[in-house]
Amino acid sequence: MTNSLGERLWTGEEIVSGVKEDRSFLDQVLNFYCSKIKKEGPEINCFTFFSESALAQQQSVLRQRIEAKEDLPLAGLPVSVKDNIAVEGMPLTCASKILENYYPSYSATAVERLVKAGAIIIGKTNLDEFAMGSSSEYSYFGPVKNPRDKRKVSGGSSGGSAASVAGGFCPVALGSDTGGSVRQPASFCGVLGLKPSYGRVSRYGLTAFGSSLDQIGVFANNSRDLSLILNAVSGQDKKDSTSSALPPFSAEKHESLQPEKLKVGILQDFLKPASADVIESFAKAEEFFKNQGAQVQDVFFPELQYSVPAYYIIATAEASSNLSRYDGARYGFRSKGRLNSLGEMYKQSRSQGFGEEVTRRIILGAFVLSEGYSDKYYQKATKVRKLLLSGINKLFDKYDILLSPTTPTTAFDLGSHGQDPVSMYSSDVCTVLANLTGVPSLSVPCGVSEKTKMPVGLQIIANRNQEQKLMSVSSFFQQGFC
Ligand code: GLN
Repeated sequence: MTNSLGERLWTGEEIVSGVKEDRSFLDQVLNFYCSKIKKEGPEINCFTFFSESALAQQQSVLRQRIEAKEDLPLAGLPVSVKDNIAVEGMPLTCASKILENYYPSYSATAVERLVKAGAIIIGKTNLDEFAMGSSSEYSYFGPVKNPRDKRKVSGGSSGGSAASVAGGFCPVALGSDTGGSVRQPASFCGVLGLKPSYGRVSRYGLTAFGSSLDQIGVFANNSRDLSLILNAVSGQDKKDSTSSALPPFSAEKHESLQPEKLKVGILQDFLKPASADVIESFAKAEEFFKNQGAQVQDVFFPELQYSVPAYYIIATAEASSNLSRYDGARYGFRSKGRLNSLGEMYKQSRSQGFGEEVTRRIILGAFVLSEGYSDKYYQKATKVRKLLLSGINKLFDKYDILLSPTTPTTAFDLGSHGQDPVSMYSSDVCTVLANLTGVPSLSVPCGVSEKTKMPVGLQIIANRNQEQKLMSVSSFFQQGFC
């Protein structure tokens, strides 16, 4: 298989079956990724943590488990993990000064499940601080560069995870998606990115941003590898009361897709803000589905114009509450200045520990929840959320899947949105809908812009818990569309 850079790489599936057949293959795979990360990783800046000794330790434990003939569906599969997801023995910084040097005493359920299945956690990936951003430039560790063109952003907030797969540093990665943070960077970097239904993957061990919107998601170069990981990480978890009781996603159960029975809705409202080159690539994808005999219709969903404002009100409100736990006393950084009172310690630690964008969001979130304004903003946003939910339910009465571009433009230049947060927020216009309504959504590469030479992503949205359908449509598309 070749990745988005045209490099011949193993698929995740090839690694797992290779390791099972020949134990020395594990060393070959890990040596390859290790030297690539050391050589090319620093320039892309996609890792916040990588340690050869941590890798060697995992390698020796895995060898023993293979000898003991344990059932290991992900034997030897290297996975990178976004640095807002807890991995025991590795730092959990959320790319923030306030959590610099913080080591969690436990692993997230998703990580625990990966390790149990035999995966190797190859490193922690860079992100926008606390997953707030769309470019992975708001990181305490500096911006992530796009492996396709190092002058461009990798997208965000899971830009490090997307770049780790696109740059060939590992075959699969975990990210988190609160408003598009898996799908948007996947689109910018030319890889696949999946946000599962709300509750399908446990959030235990994922640092909370907007708890009613957050989901752990997956990056890969093909649908098969996405399925493998989703199979391992999904399923109910007693440690997360919002996790769904459905059985884990089955990687084996392949719904054979009959394209002539597929009812496809094209979300016209997401084409309006898109640039001409994105529309051109999207039109080819639409044509593909028509040529395969699918029933394709345009749909109009006027309430979508309120989705970005509603998202930024709800997400910041929840963030202001979630981030109140970082007070200089319980975790990480504490200001070293002369502190005359407890209040002063909180104030100094928080204002020195959080970056500009996170501070902006805490202030905005506290404002929209404050007395006199919560009716005007927060309550109104929750009403918009209900409207969006009933609108999308109606659409799924008629259509199997909804399609749109994942992002209105291809990856933009590093630094180009620096002084204008609102223009950055508008790059989430196509993705926040799935988080506000809890449905699964995936971005799959659909060509390269002739103008910018950067990848374009096709967003496929399915009804709640229909990951199986989503995955079969995406693999059908990836195999047939060139
Ligand atoms: N870009 C969006 C934001 O900044 C989404 C972030 C995310 O999904 N974590 O809020």
